[in-house]
This record gives sequence, C-alpha cells and structure tokens, in this order.
Amino acid sequence: MLRVLALHGKLPALWGGNQSAVEVLAKFWRRFRQLHPSHAIYTYHKNRLHQVLPLMLHADEGETLKKAGLMVISWQSPVGAGISTQTEPTDMPLNYVGSSFKTRFLISVLLKRLYTKQVKESLDSLMSIIATDLKQLFEQGLRLDFPDGKHQHYYVAWVGLKGDWPIQQKLGHLQRHFSRLTTNEQVGVGICHLCEAGRPGVPLHDFSEHAAWRTTFLRTSPFETMGPLADVPQTASPEMMLRYDPFHTLHKGCFAELAGSGLVMIIDYGILGDDSVPKQLNSLYQLLQEFCTRTKHPLHMDGLTRNLLNFPRDSSYPAADTTAVLAFLEEFFRNHLATLANPDPYLESAHDACVNANIFLRTLYRNGLWLPLQATTEVAQSGYNFLRCYAECAQHAYNQGKTRYKLQPKYHTMIHFADFYGTAARSRQRFTWNILADGCQMDEDLVGKVATLSRAVNVRSVHTDTVSRYLLKLWEEP
Ligand SMILES: [Zn+2]
Repeated sequence: MLRVLALHGKLPALWGGNQSAVEVLAKFWRRFRQLHPSHAIYTYHKNRLHQVLPLMLHADEGETLKKAGLMVISWQSPVGAGISTQTEPTDMPLNYVGSSFKTRFLISVLLKRLYTKQVKESLDSLMSIIATDLKQLFEQGLRLDFPDGKHQHYYVAWVGLKGDWPIQQKLGHLQRHFSRLTTNEQVGVGICHLCEAGRPGVPLHDFSEHAAWRTTFLRTSPFETMGPLADVPQTASPEMMLRYDPFHTLHKGCFAELAGSGLVMIIDYGILGDDSVPKQLNSLYQLLQEFCTRTKHPLHMDGLTRNLLNFPRDSSYPAADTTAVLAFLEEFFRNHLATLANPDPYLESAHDACVNANIFLRTLYRNGLWLPLQATTEVAQSGYNFLRCYAECAQHAYNQGKTRYKLQPKYHTMIHFADFYGTAARSRQRFTWNILADGCQMDEDLVGKVATLSRAVNVRSVHTDTVSRYLLKLWEEP
C-alpha cells in the first residue's frame, strides 16, 4: 500500500500534505519523545527520525450479512489534513478531514464467528502477521519510488492501537479492563490497564493529588499473556500503546452521562412546570431544538422520551448529540441560576460541570495534533474542574436517593486524560499530544463502509472479496 501511495503521489498525505516530510517527521518524533521517551525508535533510528513514518492501528467490529460480526483492521497516520472545527494555527494537523477511504487504509477483515467459535486464535494469528510486517517495516523499512522518478528509503514505527475498550482487551490480552468492575472491592483485579485502580485499597474514582492509583501507574503488568502486537518495536511500557479513545470515554461515556443526567435534573426540579413527564420532555426538546437552530449545533435526535433517556432509572444518551446537549445545558442552567433568590449548590455544580466539559472538548477540537502550552493548561484545568463538579453532582444525587451522575469506569479514564494534561502543564511541556488523535469517530466510518462492501459479496469468500472490493473503491477515490 505504501508503495502504491508513493508511486501515485499520495504519500505526502501521511505527513499533512504540502509540507516537507523531513521537517514534519523530525518535528513529530521530537515532540512524541515527551510522551514515549522509551520508544524503540529513539535508539534504533536516532539519526534518521526524519525517514520514519508514524503509524496507528485501528480495529473494530462492523456488521456484515445476517448481522454477523466482521472485524475490520486498518492503519492510519496520526497526521492529516486537519479537523473541521480547528480554529487555532497548527504546524501539524489532526487526521479527521477527508473521506475515511483516503485517510485510513484497510489491512484485513475477519468474520467474528471464526475468532469466537471455530478457530479461536485466528484473530491473534492475523494480528501476528500484521505484527511481523510492522517489525520488518520498522527494522528494514522499504524503498519508495515517486512519480518524478526519485526514490527514498522509509521506515515505519507503530505508535498505538486505537479502538474501544473491548477491542483493547481482546487484542491486548488484558486482565485488567472495564468489565472487571466489581461491587466487592476486596476481590477486584483492577479495571484499568495503566494503573491498579479497582483493586483493594485503590479507589478508581479518586482524582485527588494523593489518590492511591497514582503510585500504581504503569507499576504492574495488566496482561494475561503478551498479545500478538508485543513483538512490534514500541515503548518499554507496552500498555501505553493501547490508547484510550476520547470518543467512547467522553461522547459515549462520562460527558453523555452528564448530558442525560442534566436533562433529567431539569425534570426532577420541575423547572418546566408540573405537567406530566412526557409533556415536560416535549417542552424540553423544543427548547433544545430552538437552541440548536439559534447556535447552529447539529441535532440528530427527533424527540426526548423516557426511553431515550432511560428515565428515571438511568440517563444514558445518544453520543452524536452530546456536544449540542452540553452547550444547551450550560446556557439553560446559567439562565435558571440567575433567576434564583438563593444559591442551589446541586444546580451550580451541574452548571459548572457542563461549562468545564465544554471547555475541555472545545479546546481539543480547536487545535491540531499538538496542543501548545496555553491550550494544554486550559484542558488540564477544565478536566480537573469537570471531575470535581461531576463528583459533587454525584454526591448531591446520592444524597437525594436518585440515580443520576453515575460514576462509571469511564470516569476513571477521564481522570487519566486530565492528569495527562495536568502533568504536561506542570512540566511546562511546549507541545502535548492531542488525545483526539486516539479518537475513533472517523475510523468507525471506515468500518461501516467496509462492512457495507462485505454485505455485497459471497459469504464463502467474504475475506478476499471484501478486500478486493475495498481496493477497487480506493482506486475510484479522486
Ligand atoms: Zn488507571
């Protein structure tokens, strides 16, 4: 694939388009060193960093014929043509803009029934082949020929595995992961592959300076056995290569929980009157719709129902609208608080949680692949503020006997996000990795497209035919 991209003049897309590869790649690895100083690249390629292409893997399950699962594995560069929300200048854009066919590249597909029933180790076998390729690309590299007749030797270094928590668990052979959550803290084996949160004496929701998990960060191995990617040259702490995804952690995780709980809280308080709950939800939806039209926020849902919010038992919420609902709630709570004669700590905490969640996301989405120090500081501060305000909301809800603002394992991941930026800000790091590079939105788009292709081929040859159809599609892309 790299040879074809080079030969057809498409390779520069891997370092952001028009800039010089030497300049961008050297800069990338200089900044990446702050994040992963122990990565093998700094010993093996220390004198030719400008010839090494960074590569991320992504894996996720799509749906092929008869709703059967299909694992779709692809690679991408963390550098690309940017993100549509970017407003700040950057010398290295994120990789969100452009068709997912042109910015992510399929490696292979595998039917779920093969790796869950028939040949259980088939997924590991496939990943082992990919790992062998990556090792060879790292150590030996390859000669690439360009359309102008020139050629250049390049190497490839793996910088992380993207995917949701179940994928990380499966491909990483993790023994510590989200589904290890237990109500009996005395027997917990841990829920986080980066630290021992969830084990006895290590509370997972503690975000304080002296939280017990801090001393356990990268301390013990989270692996049952080493996964197939362990052989690829990487960092000294292989668990760091399994990247937490902000899309699942935030939009589908704790920010979604904040959005759902915030909406339900408006009903709890009776702010919209004492009509029946369905009528109140209808009024609330109209307010939300008006807000989105006025502020040009896209809104995907077409109504608010008990079912949608899983009200009153729960408050989960569709991910696509999380950003819009949080912006709406910030304004709604601010306006409502201004009408109150006496302070209301629960409402104030909810308002402040929304304000800080919005700053956190906005700052990430406005920047490129590397956050400058000012942005890093803002993200860290808003991240810590969100954690504190959300915990206050959870406490208020608990005191009232209501299941709002649930504290889930994803809240623990958010602690890692805030802490990652807090540590960078305290050490005055000039450039810090934008965690949106680990986000899976665009990758899921490619998974959907490949799964659609797979539904049009004969199921008996689904593997080879899907890849062939993908290659044809790729060729047709302008
Ligand atoms: Zn952790």
